[in-house]
Amino acid sequence: MAQKKRIGIMGGTFNPIHQGHLILAEQAREYCGLDEVLFIPSGNSYMKPSDEILDGKTRISMTALAIEDNPYFALSTMEVEREGATYTCDTIRELKGLNPSIEYFFIMGADAFFIFEKWKNYNEILANCILVVESRDEKDTSQLKEKAANLQKKYQAEIIVLPERKIDLSSTEIRNRLKNGESVRYMIPDKVLSYIQKNRLYYIR
Ligand code: ATP
Ligand code: MG
Repeated sequence: MAQKKRIGIMGGTFNPIHQGHLILAEQAREYCGLDEVLFIPSGNSYMKPSDEILDGKTRISMTALAIEDNPYFALSTMEVEREGATYTCDTIRELKGLNPSIEYFFIMGADAFFIFEKWKNYNEILANCILVVESRDEKDTSQLKEKAANLQKKYQAEIIVLPERKIDLSSTEIRNRLKNGESVRYMIPDKVLSYIQKNRLYYIR
């Protein structure tokens, strides 16, 4: 029997997308032997204030530019197109419904993982995907392994902790730097930076 297709899901606000997202997705692809990583920019996030978040179309354009030269990376507009708040459980249900035989890997940073049990229907997510987690700040690698072991035991979840690689970058920092007129070169892809400058996003005048 042919091996099941393995697809990574990289969800995020991507406001804007940065090298931390891209490196995480690439590491997950290589480490887990994924056939593809699907980037899914979120619609309206119920966890974040919406005034700071650029509209879905703009975040989709930036994401498309960032991933266009990686043949393993693809983009889905499904969360932006969906009415109402974005919930990962709905996304995974939709994807599974379209093709039940694909094996899905949900990729996330440690900050998201530590609050995973606050996500809507997280049990359903665990039943339908393997979680792939990367550490994000100074202290979290040992806590991360502990938390992963804990969830594995509690819910029979499948969780893969990526080898430690901390990339100290966040969209919040990028937005703040742009606001202050500081350089973000090499922190985000050149094409994304040009797009931000051309469209005068994030306070660029
Ligand atoms: P913001 O500062 O606006 O919250 P962010 O940089 O955290 O932005 P998100 O779009 O919130 O980016 O993150 C999407 C996913 O990428 C989350 O799972 C997050 O944990 C992960 N992620 C983002 N940046 C990194 C990074 N530097 N290292 C590892 N994971 C990251
Ligand atoms: Mg974040």
